[in-house]
Amino acid sequence: MESTQGSISATFHHSARDDIVQVFKKWDANKDGFISRESLVEILAKVGMKESDANAFMSTVSTSDQLQYADFVEWLCFPKAMVQSGVVPLNASFLGRTCKFFVGTNWKCSLESIESVDSLIADLNKMWLDDGASMSEVELCIFPPYVFLDRVRQQLHREIRVGSQNAWDAAPGFKSTGVISAEMMHSIGCRWVLLGHSDRRNVLGETDTLIHDKVTKCLEAGLSVNLTIGETREARDAGNAISTLVDQLSAAVAHVPGDAWGRIALAYEPVWAIGEGATPCTPEETQRVLAALRAWIRDNAGPDAARACRLLYTGSVNENNAEVYARLPDVDGFVVGRAGLHISKLKSICKSLPKCNVPAGL
Ligand code: PEP
Repeated sequence: MESTQGSISATFHHSARDDIVQVFKKWDANKDGFISRESLVEILAKVGMKESDANAFMSTVSTSDQLQYADFVEWLCFPKAMVQSGVVPLNASFLGRTCKFFVGTNWKCSLESIESVDSLIADLNKMWLDDGASMSEVELCIFPPYVFLDRVRQQLHREIRVGSQNAWDAAPGFKSTGVISAEMMHSIGCRWVLLGHSDRRNVLGETDTLIHDKVTKCLEAGLSVNLTIGETREARDAGNAISTLVDQLSAAVAHVPGDAWGRIALAYEPVWAIGEGATPCTPEETQRVLAALRAWIRDNAGPDAARACRLLYTGSVNENNAEVYARLPDVDGFVVGRAGLHISKLKSICKSLPKCNVPAGL
């Protein structure tokens, strides 16, 4: 399954630009955000794929007879530069952003039984079937605990991503007793991993070095990384918020290859702003911090990296405040804890992003 996608990407990358432009022009004419099985087969034939393989690919990536246009772009690793440079004449507004918004829901240990997991999966699937089309600009990713990952991936709608809350406990790359590697997660269909959460940094003692090693290994294994950074109340009160964040970020991404920034969603999560009774960071301060982080990425990894990397706010986001944060120019998404366990809240949060989008000022 995976190798099929890989080979299509390679073929697509090397196929004639004119063919691709023709194909996209045709979709553009449809303007409905979807591509049918028939068109997909025709398009893939242009890049040398047999009809039977194209049909198999379609079945891999979609449960229905049509495919969301945005997913097709993503699955084929369509070169974002072509979209940005205007070679591909598209009018889908989210493509101007070069990628979808991102919403992650971290289940932590909130659900501890199979029954509760199955029930939430059923609710998520219903939400997506009823309302998925209006959330097509959002990449929604569920982060369940390890033991439920395979179950969730098997049962969840294929367009909703699944990610792990961790990879390896220590010594990334070491494969022996009790270890859960990034490769294992990739093989069951996990595409994301959450790294650097303050629970693991501050309670379980994960160091910047360990987080760096995990980021590097997970990217190598083909996972995308939802990297979390955040300052404690003490660091903030001492005036060290930005320097703490930059220290955590620079350590974690020290060996991220230039073309991997599109696979990083960087979450600013002030430690003091998460969980029951906490107050979220103010929108003004959130924007100031995210702009500083984007500027750091631009200065240290280049403007393409700064555009490709999605910046998220996390910490007490809910259905009532999401729109305020979604309006901030540097917010490309959220990670939610408590609100992600309630479908109506999660739905409002997801919908707030395309509704309030303001392009970042790069
Ligand atoms: C978290 O605990 O990481 C978190 C973001 O939680 P909440 O959204 O509930 O504040």
